[in-house]
Parts: sequence; structure tokens; C-alpha cells
Amino acid sequence: MASGLQSIDNINHEYFMDIAIEEAIIAGERGDKPIAAVLVHNNNIIGKSSNTWNTRNSKVHHAENWLCMEYSNYLRKYGKECIIYSTLEPCIMCISTIIMADIRNIVVGYEDIYMKTWDNIQKLEWIFSRINNYKIGIRKEKCIDLIKRYGEEDDKKILLPE
Ligand SMILES: [Zn+2]
Repeated sequence: MASGLQSIDNINHEYFMDIAIEEAIIAGERGDKPIAAVLVHNNNIIGKSSNTWNTRNSKVHHAENWLCMEYSNYLRKYGKECIIYSTLEPCIMCISTIIMADIRNIVVGYEDIYMKTWDNIQKLEWIFSRINNYKIGIRKEKCIDLIKRYGEEDDKKILLPE
């Protein structure tokens, strides 16, 4: 395993995912995609972020990469001890940014069945070797409900299970 935080077993993942879900609801109500991320270090919330596709009129403003950018100085020092929570599994762009920002622990609400990030990164040695923990399915139903409630038709088509 890569250096940094090793076990994330004794952490209340549901608690932090609920915070991410609250943030995703704010994004959905605002007219953005209902996806959010929370950065946690030593059981403290360091920062929160959500998708801003429509607010910023930008398809590359995702919750996770923006969170990494905003807290990049902090992450340079403590990234390896941090956990990132995301309501939807990070896309390939964001998982790359997460690893570049030194985060080794990723907790996901709902897997991205369209982009299949987990399947893809297992083939990418540079990324895969830098992940200590990758947990999928925390508050899964609630995270799927976000897409059902606020997702655009295209999102529903590609992201929801049959
Ligand atoms: Zn992304």
C-alpha cells in the first residue's frame, strides 16, 4: 500500500456521506448536477464542493476536481491522511486529480456505471498503486435518489440502474 492513512474502517462514513448528500441537494436545487464531495482529515471536514456545470457554464467544473484545486495547499501537506467522499463515483478526470493532489482514500456513494472508473483505473498502474482505500456503496440508495430527483434526462439514462 502507498504511504499515508491505511485503514479507514473506524470512520463513520455514513455521517460524512450525508454531508455530501446535503451539498448535492443544494447543487440540484441550484440547477447544477446533484453531485458533491467532502474532504475529511482526522474526522474533521476540511471542505465541501459540488458540481457547477451550469452555474459556471463549464463542463470541467466537477465537485471533486474543484475541491482538490481549492484545498491544494492543504492537500500538499496532509493529502495522504485525507479521505474524499463523493456522492457519485469520480470520473476519470477527477480520480486523476484526486491522486495528483495526494489523496489516497476515496469513499463513493454510488458507482458510475457509465464511466466505470473503478474498472478502468485498475489498468492504470500509476493511479492504482496510489490508492489505499476505495469504498463504494455508502448511502447508495440516497445517492441514486439524487440523480432521480435532480438529474437531467441524459444523466438518468446513463447513470441509473435498469
Ligand atoms: Zn469528475
